[in-house]
Amino acid sequence: MLYVVGFGPGKLDYFTNEAQEAIKESDLIVGYTTYIDIIREYFPEKQLNHTPMKKEVERCRYAIEEVLKGRTVAIVSSGDSGVYGLAGLIYELSVEYPPIEIEIIAGVTAALSGGAILGAPLTHDFAVISLSDLLTPWELIKKRIEFASEADLVICLYNPASKKRADYLKIACEYMMHYKAKDTVCGYVKNIGRLGQEAVICTLEELKDKTVDMFTTVYIGNSKTRMIQGKMVTPRGYRIS
Ligand code: SAH
Repeated sequence: MLYVVGFGPGKLDYFTNEAQEAIKESDLIVGYTTYIDIIREYFPEKQLNHTPMKKEVERCRYAIEEVLKGRTVAIVSSGDSGVYGLAGLIYELSVEYPPIEIEIIAGVTAALSGGAILGAPLTHDFAVISLSDLLTPWELIKKRIEFASEADLVICLYNPASKKRADYLKIACEYMMHYKAKDTVCGYVKNIGRLGQEAVICTLEELKDKTVDMFTTVYIGNSKTRMIQGKMVTPRGYRIS
C-alpha cells in the first residue's frame, strides 16, 4: 500500500486522525527534508527517508519501488498532498509499474489553515495561484492572476517568494492593481501552525512592498472583502439587516 499523506501546515492539531493512522501503519515514510523533520517530531520511532527539493520524481519512484518490495509506504507533503503536492505525480508514474494500491489522504491545505487565522477571507469564490515559475511559465501565471482579478475572485497565492524570486509578489500586485482597487483588503500568514506564526492584514497597495518568504500564504480580497473586528472577511452575501 502507498499512502499519499498531507499532514497539514505543521502542528499536530491540524494533522488529521486518518493521516496519523496512515503514518502509524507505514513501514517507511518518504518526503522532502523539511517535511521529514516535522514527521520525526511526532513519530520518532518510524523509519524515515528524506530527499532534497527538486528530487520529486526520484522520491516518488523510490516510494513506489519500496511498495513493490512488499512494504507499506507513506509519502508525505505538508498541507494537502493534492495541492501543489505529489499526489498527481504518483498516479502519473504508477502506470509504468505493476499495479499497486494507492490511497490519497486529504490534509488541511495552507489556504484554509491560514484563512482561519486571518478571519474568513475565502467565504466566496476564490482562486489559488502559485507564483512559482519552476514548472509553470511566468506568462501563464500572469494570465491567471489577471483573469482572476478581472473576475473579482478572492486570490490566494502560494509560493509568493523564494531566495531567487524576491520581487514576484510586487509584480503580481501590480498586475492585480489593473483590476482590483488599491485599497482592497489583503492579508498574509507566515509559518502557519509553526514557530514564528505571524499574520498581517493590509491593503493591496501596502502588500506590494511587503517582504514575504516561501513559508507565507497571501490573500487578496474581492471588491466586497472588508475588515470586521480586526479580521479579513469576505461576505457570502446574506442579508442581515
Ligand atoms: N501542499 C501544500 C502546499 C505546497 S506549496 C499545502 O497544501 O499547503 C508550498 C507553499 O504552500 C508555500 O510557499 C506557502 O505559500 C504555502 N505553505 C505551506 N505550508 C505553509 C505554512 N505552514 N505557513 C504558510 N504557508 C505555507
